[in-house]
Amino acid sequence: MVAAANLISWAALSVFMDFDEREEAAILEKAVRDFMQRFPPEYWRRVDSERRFPEEFWRAAGQQGLLGITIPEEYGGAGMGMVEASLAMMAVAGCGGGLPAGDLLMRTMVFGGLVLSRFGSKKVREEYVPRLARGEIICSFAHTEPRAGVNTFDIETRAERRDGGYVVNGQKIWITLAHMADIIVAVVRTTPREKAASRTAGLSLMVIDAKQQGVKTSRIPGMALRPLPSNVLYLEDVWVPEENVLGEVDRGWEYLTQLLNAERISTASISIGVGDYALQKAVEHASTRVVFGRPIGSNQSIQFPLAEAKMELELARLMTRKAAWLFDAGRECAFEANMAAFTAGRAAYKAADRAIQTLGGMGFAEEYDVERMFRDSRLFRTAPVPEEMVLNYVATRVLRLPRSF
Ligand SMILES: Cc1cc2nc3c(=O)[nH]c(=O)nc-3n(C[C@H](O)[C@H](O)[C@H](O)COP(=O)(O)OP(=O)(O)OC[C@H]3O[C@@H](n4cnc5c(N)ncnc54)[C@H](O)[C@@H]3O)c2cc1C
Repeated sequence: MVAAANLISWAALSVFMDFDEREEAAILEKAVRDFMQRFPPEYWRRVDSERRFPEEFWRAAGQQGLLGITIPEEYGGAGMGMVEASLAMMAVAGCGGGLPAGDLLMRTMVFGGLVLSRFGSKKVREEYVPRLARGEIICSFAHTEPRAGVNTFDIETRAERRDGGYVVNGQKIWITLAHMADIIVAVVRTTPREKAASRTAGLSLMVIDAKQQGVKTSRIPGMALRPLPSNVLYLEDVWVPEENVLGEVDRGWEYLTQLLNAERISTASISIGVGDYALQKAVEHASTRVVFGRPIGSNQSIQFPLAEAKMELELARLMTRKAAWLFDAGRECAFEANMAAFTAGRAAYKAADRAIQTLGGMGFAEEYDVERMFRDSRLFRTAPVPEEMVLNYVATRVLRLPRSF
């Protein structure tokens, strides 16, 4: 009996530990890398320094089908999952596109495609999803509020019921691309906290038409993600028709957790791409720059940190892949998605930091790209989920330690 039980568990383990690439995934990754030859690192350096939206990339990615990877085929997408989306985000970031290239894929595939096609009404799916897949409209995600901060349950943006829909009032902060968005997926309160059935009830997700009068924005110039600026978003008597509510009213927290898991898998993927690119630049430089008559990369003080960065990126890649695989299988993946985001964010930051050290003074010159990777890699240690909140999650939800807040 014992032997049979062992056999069964080993068989299960070997299925689980199958790391063969799916053929479609390899084809997809190669197609993305070929596509990125049209948008080399110089392109991304320029849009970063000009703080300009990468319009050409956005349009071409839409035409190429890159924005619709997770969007169902019936709405013009490729009908693939987060495993493939993750590979694509790693590849665009890893070819030198860095954070903005990855973010543009994430916002369509996750905030737009995945969420709208899973929870949207027929009208929402038909009106917006095919246009998202083609890169014709831009979607923002409005979650963070100035007062609530990382405490989602303190969200105050209020949606009040009227005939045929909701009137929304409130303020959001840091909303990337809100100034040019066509639609905004917003987290709003539909039932006041004191009247909600539970701690997690009373929130809803809604699709806001961002071109209406009551939607106003003001830019927040910042350190990271320069081609895709963030904004304060003011919502003043904004109209949301009933059919633009995602899923059921008051159950937004359930949908939000799925969205946030997919977002974390995405930011992990983008971080890994950023780290890969920074490391590649460091290795190239370490192999060719000669000081004291030998390549600097022959010094162990240069090569060991790069070896360490490589290992940490590979570990993060493994966890990201597991989280994406669980997500696609419809299984619980919050722990893995959080772990992926945390480890990948740190690995990318360390790789970029070591790349600067390896390049010496040139690490600070824009033309070598690593300062751009360094600035952008820092973001994912703070946003969308700060490291402290991942550690809080693991400590209290996984290890079941008492809550401190
Ligand atoms: C460039 C950029 C783009 C962004 N884009 C978007 C976007 O498109 N949409 C959107 O909705 N948001 C966006 N954000 C916002 C981002 O998600 C938040 O900044 C992030 O979640 C942190 O929230 P906060 O700034 O309110 O921090 P705060 O809530 O003020 O927290 C500040 C610090 O305190 C820590 N802290 C708070 N409570 C605890 C606790 N109990 N235990 C331990 N530590 C704690 C936090 O971890 C953090 O380090 C963006 C931010 C940036 C910088």
